[in-house]
Amino acid sequence: MSPQPVNTDTVSGNRGLMIEEPLIFEMDVRGRSGVDLPDVPKHQERLGKSKRKGAIGLPGLAEPQVVRHYTKLSQKNYAIDMSVYPLGSCTMKHNPRINEKMARLPGIADLHPMQPVSTVQGALELIDTLAHWLKTLTGMPAVAMSPAAGAHGELCGMLTIRAAHLAKGDARKRILVPESAHGTNPATAASIGYEVDPVPADERGRVDLKAFKAKLGPDVAGTMITNPNTCGLFENDIIDIADAVHGVGGYFYCDGANFNAIVGRVRPGDLGVDAMHINLHKTFSTPHGGGGPGSGPVVLSEALAPYAPLPYVTHGPNGFDLVEHDGDKSFGRLKGFHGQMGMFTRALSYMLSHGADGLRQVSGDAVLNANYLLAALRDDLTAAFPGTCMHEALFNDDFLEGTDVTTLDFAKAMIDEGYHPMTMYFPLVVHGALLMEPTETESKIGLDRYISVVKGLAKRAKSGDAAYFHGAPYHTPRRRLDETLAARQPILRWKPEQSKQAAE
Ligand SMILES: *Cc1c(COP(=O)(O)O)cnc(C)c1O
Repeated sequence: MSPQPVNTDTVSGNRGLMIEEPLIFEMDVRGRSGVDLPDVPKHQERLGKSKRKGAIGLPGLAEPQVVRHYTKLSQKNYAIDMSVYPLGSCTMKHNPRINEKMARLPGIADLHPMQPVSTVQGALELIDTLAHWLKTLTGMPAVAMSPAAGAHGELCGMLTIRAAHLAKGDARKRILVPESAHGTNPATAASIGYEVDPVPADERGRVDLKAFKAKLGPDVAGTMITNPNTCGLFENDIIDIADAVHGVGGYFYCDGANFNAIVGRVRPGDLGVDAMHINLHKTFSTPHGGGGPGSGPVVLSEALAPYAPLPYVTHGPNGFDLVEHDGDKSFGRLKGFHGQMGMFTRALSYMLSHGADGLRQVSGDAVLNANYLLAALRDDLTAAFPGTCMHEALFNDDFLEGTDVTTLDFAKAMIDEGYHPMTMYFPLVVHGALLMEPTETESKIGLDRYISVVKGLAKRAKSGDAAYFHGAPYHTPRRRLDETLAARQPILRWKPEQSKQAAE
């Protein structure tokens, strides 16, 4: 006799450590608070009409409730502190704890951006020292420190390029962007009114040089090219590309998000780059994900430096100063203040603790790890391009042909195995792309465990077990969501019937 199937639903909806959690507002008890404060003594009301009329509706909870709430929410998250985070293009590397210690020093953490410069000389020196390292590592003469992320850096670089053209009375229209580019590149160019002209990739996964040259003309303001590119490959025609765009009077914007692959080995300034953002939160280990904060300083060539945004730090006989106003060349301000001080501190801490030789080893180890992954998985998945890679390994979905399993199904199955999925369906130039970036901070043991899981799943997909993949994930707090709907109409309550009522 076969055993009766057992209903494994729990009374509470919790499943072991997977604990359901109401919204913090649903736990609200008016008047409850974490601390007892004395009654406000009698005072003269000076706010007049601007005084608040009633309570602002903050939930009332005791301290242990708040701690438990956020601890439980944090446990629903995946983090680099838990395991390999193979998202390609994102460079999810370990954030050394020394960075956190430095960023929390009261002299840094308690600064106010409006303090007089005489009281923040140390902070300005820190920004200036970080700027010096960035200029040295990239071989570029200037850097704008204020952009708050990579995409913001792109905006900074492109506004600088536009200002340089306008200063010559030459309002150019077109920006050449390879088809493999990160979506932020065309979005940035388009957002400030440029017309984006896509350049195809060749069969080697690199910019098609002939097609690129054919598109050049006097209306081309410049090009935005990622190097190493999003296929994980070094653009080896890069100097020809730079020369060609300069030949028509355009500028070369380099997306430097993948600088981790070449830091300490190649200086973008030697390749003819005019502007390049550096994601401190990728290459220099400051934490990211979940919406920030990031930091995206932009290094600039001699030709573009005069158009850089305000403010910037200078060093004179009386110490450090902030230049808040310029002649009329700067394109203006990009951000309220001077940049992300906490990220600057972490990035400089990372640089100083590694030293120049350590940073060079970072890129070497990152490329080695990616190639270890590529070599180990090459026979089970299908490598998108022959040969070795830079910092990330790119596969296409040929290995899934005839299995009825898609890249998305494969990624969902990885969640059940306890891994964050790799980047999927990007870059667009590769069909069903799976892009994996291990970074240098993964150990061989950690990579081997990851590899055995990916290999095991590939074997399972090829064995005809498509139904398993279609149902995955099985072991998560929520199963497969309608991703479009989940993004537009998120259901945040743990009891969906309450949500329904709320929606009605
Ligand atoms: C991450 C990334 C960006 C954008 O950087 P953000 O800091 O996320 O704004 C741009 N281009 C590439 C290639 C990237 O990987």
